[in-house]
Amino acid sequence: MSKVVKFGGSSLASAEQFKKVKDIIMADKDRRYVVPSAPGKRFSKDTKVTDMLYQCYGKAEKGENFKDKLAEIKARYDEIIAGLKLNVNLDKEFAEIEKNFAAKAGSDYAASRGEFLNGILMSHYLGYPFIDAADVIFFDENGEFDADKTDSVLSARLKEDERAVIPGFYGSMPDGSVKTFSRGGSDITGSIVSKAAKVDVYENWTDVSGFLIADPRIIPNPEVIEIITYRELRELSYMGATVLHEDAIFPVRKMGIPINIRNTNAPEDNGTWIVGSTGQKSKYIITGVAGKKGFCAVNIEKDMMNSEIGFGRKLLQAFEENGISFEHSPSGIDTFTVFVHQDEFMDKEQKVVAGIHRLCNPDTVEIETDLALLAVVGRGMKSQRGTAGRIFSALAHANINVKMIDQGSSELNIIIGVANSDFEAAIKAIYDIFVVSQL
Ligand code: ASP
Repeated sequence: MSKVVKFGGSSLASAEQFKKVKDIIMADKDRRYVVPSAPGKRFSKDTKVTDMLYQCYGKAEKGENFKDKLAEIKARYDEIIAGLKLNVNLDKEFAEIEKNFAAKAGSDYAASRGEFLNGILMSHYLGYPFIDAADVIFFDENGEFDADKTDSVLSARLKEDERAVIPGFYGSMPDGSVKTFSRGGSDITGSIVSKAAKVDVYENWTDVSGFLIADPRIIPNPEVIEIITYRELRELSYMGATVLHEDAIFPVRKMGIPINIRNTNAPEDNGTWIVGSTGQKSKYIITGVAGKKGFCAVNIEKDMMNSEIGFGRKLLQAFEENGISFEHSPSGIDTFTVFVHQDEFMDKEQKVVAGIHRLCNPDTVEIETDLALLAVVGRGMKSQRGTAGRIFSALAHANINVKMIDQGSSELNIIIGVANSDFEAAIKAIYDIFVVSQL
């Protein structure tokens, strides 16, 4: 059995946190490859090292004095070194970083140093070899992650060492320059390393005990999801539930490697298991509920729309021509509604409406703003009679007007549109009916 363990920024923010991480790694000999983030926040008003690096490099880029900022960053690492009594210093590395900042090496290079330096400290602390991610993780000319090249180089490299530290978040371009993934991208590195090393489990250690059934800002102390499929997770993350970077699923999913989300500050908790498929019933009919505000609905009416071949294509073309992606498109006989992100749409509103008139010749086009979408997700909903009925009666009891309903053919989720102002009450009504009343 072997495992990759990825630790997030808050798990590595201080010497104290490093100690917890070492205890976790040492407690299980299967935990072989370690992927660290950069030091995160030590307390809520603190600044993550990654953000400090972006700020510092911003100064360097403008030709301003950046040395004080760089010294503050070095102090973060020195504090960890002192707290762990490590026999190492990062003077050489910081001298190099200073030189490269002055030479304007790029903001990706700058941000990546957070993980790079933390990886060096971690490798000293654990006594494991350090593998620079720039040597084993690759992007192509277009800046897209190069899975094939990475897989062959990285898996060959990992065979040389039974245990190693590989910093998260970055890799290199064909010209050798450093490139990062998007923010939170160390999760992706953990997944890539898991795939290349063909491990049995990808453990992702963070500061919460897993995915929650609902947003804790809306539902106080919601329950943790014990087991969730990749597909369910995709639906919930898309709707705003964040713990893991969205793209972290893909590399491990191909290999059927489960991800276990764990809490560095509560290692005794089982966390959440993210799996390809499972025969295990979820504890409740729904696995989770999540949602987002800020949508608008464009309602189009045209007599005899139903018999006009190509109407849907022409209508969506008006959005496509303006670079707007649509979320959902429920339709009736002579009506068609397109849900879009309000902030993307508002600037281009009149262009899109003009395009709809030109392409579709509708009777009316009406725009409704300030809507929210909710996704009720659960493999347990499939073939379960009455789920939709329970959702809508709960919403009706909470006096919430439903503006849209969309159930995909997978029966994995039901999407509901409500007014922004009803959003929180709707989440609460659904949580209450499926979780609280089942306790
Ligand atoms: N340190 C990077 C960030 O804050 C990447 C990561 O932590 O995953 O986004």
